[in-house]
Amino acid sequence: MADNIFAKIVRKEIPAKIVYEDDRVVAFRDIDAKAPTHILIVPKKDLARISEAAVADEQLLGHLLTVAAEIARREGIDSTGYRLVINKGAHAGESVPHLHVHLLGGRAMSWPPG
Ligand code: AMP
Repeated sequence: MADNIFAKIVRKEIPAKIVYEDDRVVAFRDIDAKAPTHILIVPKKDLARISEAAVADEQLLGHLLTVAAEIARREGIDSTGYRLVINKGAHAGESVPHLHVHLLGGRAMSWPPG
């Protein structure tokens, strides 16, 4: 059983502002939001990062993205647009070793990312 903070949120051992949940994923507001809407979509399965996903995880990975798009519609940011981000490793700034998709929106963003 993983001991990181997102695994604990999945198991409801610590609180989070959950906006969506089903049998495979949970989504909650980022505690240090970088945009007016900043939500993390997290698989319930213990999966540390995208590089550890296997072919057997493909349906789950697709589900994370379609859930993100549905949450964006519910949050009212579909028409203005949004960004989905997965950070992997030190150069990308990965800080929690449990796979998560960032949903960021509600303001214009620059490209390329810093
Ligand atoms: P990453 O840098 O891609 O690993 O993203 C981790 C994200 O988790 C950061 O944006 C943090 O602000 C966020 N975070 C850390 N702890 C919590 C928490 N307890 N509840 C919600 N978000 C968190």
